[in-house]
Amino acid sequence: MKNIAVLTSGGDAPGMNAAVRAVVRKAIFEEMEVAGVFNGYQGLIEGKIELLQLGSVGDIIQRGGTMLRSARSPEFMTEEGRLKAMRHVKEHGIEGLVVIGGDGSFRGARELMRLGLPCVCVPATIDNDINGTDFTIGFDSALNTVIDAIDKIRDTASSHERTFIIEVMGRDAGDLALWAGLAGGAETILIPEERYDLADIVDRLQSGTGRGKKHSIIIVAEGVMSGNELADLLKKEANIETRVSVLGHIQRGGSPTARDRVIASQFGARAVELLKDGRGGVAIGMQNQMVVDYDLNEVFAEEDHALDMELYKLSKQLSI
Ligand code: ADP
Repeated sequence: MKNIAVLTSGGDAPGMNAAVRAVVRKAIFEEMEVAGVFNGYQGLIEGKIELLQLGSVGDIIQRGGTMLRSARSPEFMTEEGRLKAMRHVKEHGIEGLVVIGGDGSFRGARELMRLGLPCVCVPATIDNDINGTDFTIGFDSALNTVIDAIDKIRDTASSHERTFIIEVMGRDAGDLALWAGLAGGAETILIPEERYDLADIVDRLQSGTGRGKKHSIIIVAEGVMSGNELADLLKKEANIETRVSVLGHIQRGGSPTARDRVIASQFGARAVELLKDGRGGVAIGMQNQMVVDYDLNEVFAEEDHALDMELYKLSKQLSI
């Protein structure tokens, strides 16, 4: 292929810019033309497509968000919308597309594949919930944001001898809660993958207090319940007072960590290599520290993205 395009779609994640930069620079290095599609699939429907140059992606590697902007496009969920998008693809002579986003965006790419456009998918979501890759772009940055918040909350929690509940993102996947809980030394971590046991939570809190612990931190992934719901439960069932902190969208923002910038650069470059060789229908990922590519259909296989249960067990052992 000589003429490709790149878009970012769905929930944004720190490091998306580094991935866009890698796609553009690698494509130009390989003497290909590369266009940016603005506003995700909606931009493809509306023809918001511009040729990018080396300088177009200057000074973005360190920025959060995405210079191509992102969108959720209900119109793209319809065949009519997708056919409109394909008309612009043809008009611009685009032979292949790099889609940077989460699994929803990958489903969109699968539809474009069906209409004859080869796509390569680059995983970028703070949830880390994509089958076939150990890590997604943005996870490490969000994790560090959460840990920074936990450390700060811990300071005030210990001054006032309080129990804090910190609600983090993760509707279906507990990766962010688990990794942040482990790295932040939380006493209890609630993840969607495991049923919680209120009696056990209470027990842990009370035995900690009994041993003279000055404060406790509970991390709850939003998919389990909200921080406020958990606070109400603890108050009602065990008369335990807590304070709640909902981290919300700060987890999506901020400068990407070095690790996210590096994997974004590697993933973006690999995507271009694949399209250059005429390959589509592929997702890029990281398995055992190696950059890999695999059939896009594996992303949608029955089994869910596997949380590292060994890490979960370890977090329980270390937080007694
Ligand atoms: P993420 O990529 O972060 O998971 P979404 O699930 O919101 O985000 O998906 C982003 C966009 O991808 C949607 O707004 C829609 O335009 C497109 N998309 C998602 N699922 C499909 C699908 N099954 N068919 C076609 N397009 C889809």
